[in-house]
Amino acid sequence: MTAALPRSDAQFLDRIEADALAYGGEQLLADIRAEAAAWALEHDDPARWSAYLAVAWQLVDAHRADLVGQLVPTPDGRVRVVTPARCPAGHSWDVPAPWVASWVGCRGGGGHRDHKGHHRWKCLLPNADGDECGKIVLYPAVEEGCSFVGIGEG
Ligand SMILES: [Zn+2]
Ligand SMILES: [Zn+2]
Repeated sequence: MTAALPRSDAQFLDRIEADALAYGGEQLLADIRAEAAAWALEHDDPARWSAYLAVAWQLVDAHRADLVGQLVPTPDGRVRVVTPARCPAGHSWDVPAPWVASWVGCRGGGGHRDHKGHHRWKCLLPNADGDECGKIVLYPAVEEGCSFVGIGEG
């Protein structure tokens, strides 16, 4: 990794590494650095950083998907809920204010694991025709036995 990193890429890398720390601690960060570096070495110098960033981002993204709805620590010592990286229509939620978040109460039981409700994120991003997407991600995903409390729309 000899080439200098453009400022925007450096900021991206900072974010990737901060997320890796939040989602999996020092071990995940070390794993991601090692795997991304191995991939980067397969490329010639001009493409190395973009390969490194792409692989690191994918690895963090995969880890994030496993953690949606769970609490992770923030650098300032607080916690935050891990949110989905994109909506079901494929819109990246890696932009400012991509969704509206809410909570849906649920009497889910039966074979489903115990839960009191679902996190709910509704996509506010425009489709190609300019209309609001409106696709919804629920966590945990709705399964047999779920029974929403009240009328959840918004
Ligand atoms: Zn969407
Ligand atoms: Zn449920």
